[in-house]
Amino acid sequence: MSFNPFNLEGKIAVVTGANTGIGQGLAVGLAEAGADIVAVGRSAPTETQKLVEEAGRRFAFVEADLGQADKAGSVAEAASAPFGTPSVLVNNAGTIMRNDALDFTEEEWDTVMDVNLKSLFFLCQAFARKWVEAGTGGKIINIASMLSYQGGIRVASYTASKSGVMGLTRLLANEWATKGINVNAIAPGYIATNNTAALRADEKRNSEILGRIPAGRWGAPSDLAGAAVFLSSSASDYVHGTTVPVDGGWLAR
Ligand code: NAP
Repeated sequence: MSFNPFNLEGKIAVVTGANTGIGQGLAVGLAEAGADIVAVGRSAPTETQKLVEEAGRRFAFVEADLGQADKAGSVAEAASAPFGTPSVLVNNAGTIMRNDALDFTEEEWDTVMDVNLKSLFFLCQAFARKWVEAGTGGKIINIASMLSYQGGIRVASYTASKSGVMGLTRLLANEWATKGINVNAIAPGYIATNNTAALRADEKRNSEILGRIPAGRWGAPSDLAGAAVFLSSSASDYVHGTTVPVDGGWLAR
């Protein structure tokens, strides 16, 4: 077969929050491109395991509550045990809380920031330390959002966290590009998952959102797989610090 720069055979990819939604779509897409998958999260990824194994790849699960950022080091250790040190880290796990900014509580702030930004940073650090020590390099893909670019409404901690993800992706790329570590992000548009169930259930918001998506439909988790395969593969070796929107054209409007 001719050279394929998107081939992930022999690579091991860690995907956080892979039991459902976008994380599941990413894990399955990476597996179909050849990677073995280590899922990290708090819920058993039974369905994802089945799909990855059907794609002919190995699958392992590390149970972890990513609300606790001090666990990042032990998560990286546990994720390296089943198949060896992974060379791809996909920071997908995320949560959202909605409330008026005037009423927003410290708990609503901390719960979201701890998972979406603090754990994400310390997981990047834990894996990068391993790659620097081994001299191997690696690939990090952080999951950003349209609210990395826009303000949103009633989601103060989510917007702060996702704007932070885009900034941090740039900072880490600046520090680690010379070490062979590619740090990039994917910014999904409006994707049909649990995270957006409330929006889709609200008829007015649903039609407002659909009305400004040039593609004319909500995205599916599988729509994000191509960008993740690209950013995990040698095809992106000179791509550093960028955030790729996969949004059906939302940002172009
Ligand atoms: P989802 O279906 O709600 O999935 C979120 C994932 O994160 C689940 O696996 C969830 O685990 C995990 N998670 C949340 N809190 C956790 C914690 N404390 N510890 C461990 N795992 C935790 O939502 P999704 O839409 O697929 O979201 C995936 C990522 O994409 C998130 O970062 C989200 O912000 C981002 N995103 C989504 C959209 C969209 O339109 N859907 C758009 C832009 C960005 P449990 O199942 O156990 O809760």
